[in-house]
Amino acid sequence: MFHFLKKSTTHKKNAGKADAAHARTRGFRVMFYGTEALVIAIWLLVFSLIFLRDITTVRWVVFVALVFLAILGFRLVVSVGREIAQRKEIEKLAENLTRANERLLNLDKMKTEFVSVASHQMRSPITAITGYASLILEGSFGPVSSKVRDAVGKILRAGKQMSVSVDDFLNVTRIEQGRMRYNFAVVDLVQLVRATVDDLKLIAWEKGLTVNTTIEEGDCYILADAEKIKQVLSNLIDNAIKYTKEGEIAISLRKEGEKAVVAVKDSGIGIPEKDLPNLFEKFSRASNANTTSVRGAGLGLYIAMQLIAAHKGRIWVETREGEGSTFSFELPLIDPNNPPAAPQA
Ligand code: ADP
Repeated sequence: MFHFLKKSTTHKKNAGKADAAHARTRGFRVMFYGTEALVIAIWLLVFSLIFLRDITTVRWVVFVALVFLAILGFRLVVSVGREIAQRKEIEKLAENLTRANERLLNLDKMKTEFVSVASHQMRSPITAITGYASLILEGSFGPVSSKVRDAVGKILRAGKQMSVSVDDFLNVTRIEQGRMRYNFAVVDLVQLVRATVDDLKLIAWEKGLTVNTTIEEGDCYILADAEKIKQVLSNLIDNAIKYTKEGEIAISLRKEGEKAVVAVKDSGIGIPEKDLPNLFEKFSRASNANTTSVRGAGLGLYIAMQLIAAHKGRIWVETREGEGSTFSFELPLIDPNNPPAAPQA
């Protein structure tokens, strides 16, 4: 009820504002046509003087023309005055906007610094938690019962997820502060893809998913920071596993002209069309994301996009809701014996 009242008051206020704007436009139009009519009348009066012989009529015509001129002059003075006042107001508004913008930029910078410091502070306790959980599971503190093993296993998994999120936050702050460092070197993409798939296929198998890898014959070298490209591919494969209930994950590497294209195809939930325009933005999660995985902050694809852009590459998705997705990225191929200079940030 209250919600409805509030809505109807806002609606009335908006309607009032629209009425006022209409009235103002009508007023301007009347003024404009009035002034135009005055100018035409003065021209006609002056023009009629050519044909007049009688001095009294001439005097009357001149008198009327003078009155019209006086009205016109008055209007001009008023409108110039109004324009000056408006201009001053606009200048003041622009100054206020600049100040507000500076304040917002400062706040944004402070927020990024805060996230960076908080994430750094969280890193050590998380490392301790996952480290000790691993030691307990390995039996370094004596034998563990299956109940304890279960509980500590959950602690370890949660700790690892937390560690991934903290790393994501740190990466975002690095990107936003322009502090991301890249160690460019000649990278064998075939090896990188194979190693990344090997690292993650166990998680897919545990979920009952099939993993298929297709790698085109021949060499495939790129100039890249291997860790960053591995991070991008891991994120895409991890997402494919997270958002697929059953079926297959297919990872492929192929050459297209001067580019190497890596694609991760899944038979998962797909992405609704309305969510696609913002998918690679910060904190963006598709509206169906929670149907398979509540885990995730919506930062992985944003980071992937930034990392691929720093390599002068491109990342994109082809998907249909309910029918799976294919995330691909392409990077320029190079001659390993004659590598080009590293791209500039
Ligand atoms: P998150 O941590 O939420 O997975 P990402 O940035 O990696 O964040 O992905 C952003 C969103 O894109 C996800 O929340 C999900 O909605 C959607 N998404 C990413 N990959 C897939 C996929 N393979 N299948 C379906 N949806 C996906």
